[in-house]
Amino acid sequence: MAILRFKALEEAFSHKPMKVEIPEGKTSDYYGMRVFDKGKMQKYLSKDAYEAVVGVLDFGQRIDRKVADQVATGMKAWAMEHGVTHYTHWFHPLTEGTAEKHDAFVEHSGSGGVVEAFSGKLLVQQEPDASSFPNGGIRNTFEARGYTAWDPSSPAFIIDRTLCIPTIFISYTGEPLDYKTPLLKALNALDKAAVDVCQYFDKDVSKVIATLGWEQEYFLIDAGMYNARPDLMMCGRTMLGHESAKNQQLEDHYFGSIPQRVAAFMQDFEVEAYRLGIPAKTRHNEVAPNQFELAPIFEECNLAVDHNLLVMSIMSNVARKHNFRILMHEKPFKGVNGSGKHCNWSMSTNTGVNLLSPGKNPKSNLQFITFLVNTLAAVQKHAVLLKASIATAGNQHRLGANEAPPAIISAFLGSQITEMLDQLVEKVSETKMSPDEKTSLKLDVIGRIPEILLDNTDRNRTSPFAFTGNRFEFRAVGSSANTAAPMIVLNSIMAEQLKSFKQDVDKLIDKNVKKDEAILQVIKKLITETEKIRFDGNNYSDEWKKEAVKRGLNVEACVPKLLDSYLSKQTLELFRNTKVFTERELEARRDIKFEMYTKKIQIESRILGDVVLNHVIPVAIEYQSMLMDNVAKMKALFSEKEFKELSEPRMELIREMSEHISVIKRKVYEMVEMRKKANSLESESEKAIMYSEKVQSFFEEIRYHSDKLELIVDDEKWPLPKYREMLFIR
Ligand code: ADP
Ligand code: MG
Repeated sequence: MAILRFKALEEAFSHKPMKVEIPEGKTSDYYGMRVFDKGKMQKYLSKDAYEAVVGVLDFGQRIDRKVADQVATGMKAWAMEHGVTHYTHWFHPLTEGTAEKHDAFVEHSGSGGVVEAFSGKLLVQQEPDASSFPNGGIRNTFEARGYTAWDPSSPAFIIDRTLCIPTIFISYTGEPLDYKTPLLKALNALDKAAVDVCQYFDKDVSKVIATLGWEQEYFLIDAGMYNARPDLMMCGRTMLGHESAKNQQLEDHYFGSIPQRVAAFMQDFEVEAYRLGIPAKTRHNEVAPNQFELAPIFEECNLAVDHNLLVMSIMSNVARKHNFRILMHEKPFKGVNGSGKHCNWSMSTNTGVNLLSPGKNPKSNLQFITFLVNTLAAVQKHAVLLKASIATAGNQHRLGANEAPPAIISAFLGSQITEMLDQLVEKVSETKMSPDEKTSLKLDVIGRIPEILLDNTDRNRTSPFAFTGNRFEFRAVGSSANTAAPMIVLNSIMAEQLKSFKQDVDKLIDKNVKKDEAILQVIKKLITETEKIRFDGNNYSDEWKKEAVKRGLNVEACVPKLLDSYLSKQTLELFRNTKVFTERELEARRDIKFEMYTKKIQIESRILGDVVLNHVIPVAIEYQSMLMDNVAKMKALFSEKEFKELSEPRMELIREMSEHISVIKRKVYEMVEMRKKANSLESESEKAIMYSEKVQSFFEEIRYHSDKLELIVDDEKWPLPKYREMLFIR
């Protein structure tokens, strides 16, 4: 009986937009209220302690134990004023999402009662059991301990009645078991390498930060519908379901007016986000029905990554309050667009300069070109690794479909910038340039950049890595991803490339080439070398796929086949140079990715089998028996001739249904056998590849037959909420 589906439908119709409590006053009045930011520190810490923490934040100094004690005391005092009773070290294990273990502030008072206590020791370090987190074979079984250690560069915050302290998570032997540790290392490497290059242009530059502005796409569906779909509950996506007659073909959802229930949800979580100091800025409907987007103002990369994880978690909590479920999966529904998370990335100096934004004079423009061209070189060299960093079981559905970037990494610059680079190549000569040549180059090419960019209207939505006027937009990232994964790679490859750039320039300077000319010569070389990765055309087209093969670009789309790039010679060299990962750590990370991939496909395969066998086939058989009864009754009623004619359409349906049912049964059986074969494989990589190529390949066929049955079986009997019911919030 299809009770759950009808209950869900009834409920979905009855849900009204919830009333949202918006704090009094302006947004800026309550913005950051739950964050232990610099302002709060100034209030709750002694002058010395405050200065010590600022030293850590701004100059990367170390914090000593005495100061840590003072910070802990200040943090506790502030937190208790907000009714906080517990604290937790908040970290990002190599699963999705975040982890936390809450401890109360209470300690024995010594006289029978308890007191609230929180020391520097507890702030700085904790030892959670690491044995239940993925570690890729790094953690010895006899040494289950892991450490979490405070990351002072991301401020502590309050959720409900818990003080959350952002931390890194490492094994007892010092290997990172999280995303944050390598991210901080990559950002540090970028800082050093970029400062060195900036020194050619401006001696005042002493710090460079990476900036990240993510755009989170997601789907909302009514909670009841979600609960009536085992596939959504277990896999985050629908494994079956016939497409709705109307989905996105009328193009009426993108930027359309936001349904009231959804608007209430958005307001509610935005208030939460503001309290937590997250600068939510843009909200709109996305292309697919029920698909939406949130983008904050960009921030320093480490903070932006934390804020994204925090937003994903508050969004799902607030969604429940509004009787919604949020779907962060990259492809929850067939036939409509999936969700991504564009990562807008740039670098910015302590002198307030965005290094990917053209400046006001030829000198700063040369700096801009330097960073632009080095980005291209870095992306070209490590394109496969960059792709591997975003390759997951979920994201494989987006990449290569005509809605998201293809599984080929290329960079878009736009015609004007491309033209400018071409002119540069033309005008820079390998031999010593005359003063006239230099002036002409500066005025006609480099000096003109701001003008051309003002008119930078050409945008290419099909490119996976697009220059958008003052930043690059990495569009291939999946909606459920921890953005740290691509950010570790992007910032590391940039650091390595800038280092190599500086070496090349210095070599020329050593040979008495003037600094400007040396820079121009190396840039010229890089422009020529990066032709392969630059592509401004339609990335969805078949011609591009052919062209990419001709250019020798990597076109692999099978996720597990990409993961070996984690251990390629150039990846090992990259991370050795930048000190971000050791070989052992890389191996562990690759193995975790294999395992995660296999497990995800395995779960999908099991759920698909369960749902078709336990939900679909029984109702199909029930409906089929009704038809058979009907035919039997007809036989009694009509003459032989009449019966033959009249019963044929029903007979046809009965046969058709039998065919679908048998194929489903047979295919599920074969799929299970294939799983057994895959499971018996020793090698994690072979297993993952087998799951990708041999197990997953059953999904479409099983689904096809189940979706056909959905069209035949009486709507009153169908147990699972249908696409048309789930996809349109009223
Ligand atoms: P679009 O949908 O056109 O890509 P959005 O406004 O949705 O544009 O998103 C643009 C994102 O880029 C925002 O998060 C914005 O803060 C971010 N951004 C702007 N400048 C930079 C920068 N210098 N570094 C990183 N991100 C940036
Ligand atoms: Mg965008």
